[in-house]
Amino acid sequence: MSAVARMSAAETAHYDVVVIGAGVAGLYQVYRLREAGFKVKAFEAGSAVGGTWYWNRYPGARFDSEAEIYQYWFSKDMYAQWKPTERFPAQPETEAWLNHVADLHDLRKHYSFSTRVTAAHYDETAKRWTVNTDQGDTVTAQFFVSCGGMLSAPLENRFPGQVTFKGRVFHTARWPKEAIDFTGKTVGVVGTGATGIQVIQTIAPMVGQLKAFVRTPQYIIPMNNPKYSEADWAKKSEGFEALKARVQSTFSGFEYDFANGSWHDHTPEQRRAIYEHYWKDGSLALWLSGFPEVFSEEEASKDISAFVREKMSERLNHDPDLIAKLVPQDSDYGFGTHRVPLESKYLETYLRPNVTVVDCRESAIERVVPNGVQMKNGTVHEVDILILATGFDAGTGALTRIDIRGRGGRSLKDDWGRDIRTAMGLGVHGYPNLFTTAAPLAPSAALCNMTTCLQQQVDWISDCLIALRAKGKNEIEATKEFEDAWVKHHDETANATLIVKTDSWYMGSNIEGKPRRLLSYCGGVGVYRGKCEEVAAKGYEGFAIS
Ligand code: NAP
Repeated sequence: MSAVARMSAAETAHYDVVVIGAGVAGLYQVYRLREAGFKVKAFEAGSAVGGTWYWNRYPGARFDSEAEIYQYWFSKDMYAQWKPTERFPAQPETEAWLNHVADLHDLRKHYSFSTRVTAAHYDETAKRWTVNTDQGDTVTAQFFVSCGGMLSAPLENRFPGQVTFKGRVFHTARWPKEAIDFTGKTVGVVGTGATGIQVIQTIAPMVGQLKAFVRTPQYIIPMNNPKYSEADWAKKSEGFEALKARVQSTFSGFEYDFANGSWHDHTPEQRRAIYEHYWKDGSLALWLSGFPEVFSEEEASKDISAFVREKMSERLNHDPDLIAKLVPQDSDYGFGTHRVPLESKYLETYLRPNVTVVDCRESAIERVVPNGVQMKNGTVHEVDILILATGFDAGTGALTRIDIRGRGGRSLKDDWGRDIRTAMGLGVHGYPNLFTTAAPLAPSAALCNMTTCLQQQVDWISDCLIALRAKGKNEIEATKEFEDAWVKHHDETANATLIVKTDSWYMGSNIEGKPRRLLSYCGGVGVYRGKCEEVAAKGYEGFAIS
């Protein structure tokens, strides 16, 4: 933006709604509100659209929802026009798709890019939010909608001494646009979540030496990623309406759903055949549609975990050292009690002569030193480039990194620092006229196909704003009673699963001091949707409206 344009922007402008984010949710939110006739202003910290797909341009980034369901559902023509080239497209294709969507619907004009919202304070008298940015903008809006993403606050400064490192340090979610030359370099990668796995398997053939710093080994599923022809896509497009309805009703917002009945009703041989079937499918179906008991019963969890461990050990040529470092043990945690990544020859990568594992359970990383990474036992692993695939302050970070003040000046950072609570992940008591997507206590905080869940929330928020306008109302806030009831229901649902027993970002346990609560509502995407619709049908029951 030019200096002149910035100057005029610096005078306070007034909107109906301010939206944060130009990712999957933000673009659709701006589209829906604009189409409904609201005066919308949107801010995006990145220099362009894409959200997750703008920031996470690290080598190997791709999604593991099938292309036919990682989609917008508001235009069949748009769906048919966009022709993904494979089942699980890589980041450049998805970023291009979101750019295409923004262009097709002329959405960019509503945004200020390279502009981070720094503060949002609610004025109880005016019943409006005042929003400030790092570029000096001040705007007001009656409603403030966060589409800032669930995994958008990266844990960049993970280790003391990072600034002393002589080479370059990258966090995967802040990957530069220019190509990085790994030729002949010794590269360290810290982290083996879904991100680290993609990086490791992708760059191993490009680097001189790769040192993978592994702490908690992962259960994985091999990705089956066939190419899609235009004819394939034309056929898939014919199923648009059915697929749209389907993903809204399943447990996880994917096409597949639990379809095998109870784990208990099968013999060990039958279970094995079912596991094998899904393993070959090469998708997340083994996890999200095998047996529901895998999420809730130790016996079922141990059974499927043993199956996956066996598969993983085979691929490591039964090497005991590699198995000890890379395959979760029975006592560690159960398959699927945190995010299961899809991978492509990830395990075989460790059979390469230029790849070594640094076992962070044997000795933890102490600090970064000028020439590498120093462990607690004093060993220094020399590297030229350090890649941090160390994850995010998930669910809450996008909002707590902004100074958000609700009634009486209460701070969301402080409130969530004590206890992470929301009303269905759509609002927070004490913060009128704030709407959230991808926030805690909704499926969109983790356990779902993101496009399904985010569109559902955007639709709910948009319909709510339209209903308020129709009734001439200008303030809405979740009641304390309603929020209490949702938190209780959420916790009961969560505590019936094994997920709460495993440490991971799902539980907030990757951040020291973060209150422990399952971030994602895990009662099912279809169930959640039904509950949201019921609230709306009853005139937004549980929300105080004035
Ligand atoms: P993550 O799952 O939180 O993984 C972070 C990794 O860094 C873990 O292996 C963690 O080990 C390690 N780590 C952190 N601090 C460490 C330390 N001090 N020493 C050693 N290791 C340390 O983050 P992520 O991989 O970026 O993935 C986050 C989420 O993004 C995924 O779960 C997924 O939902 C999404 N994602 C999706 C895709 C896809 O669709 N294919 C791809 C990438 C990411 P510990 O486990 O021991 O803490």
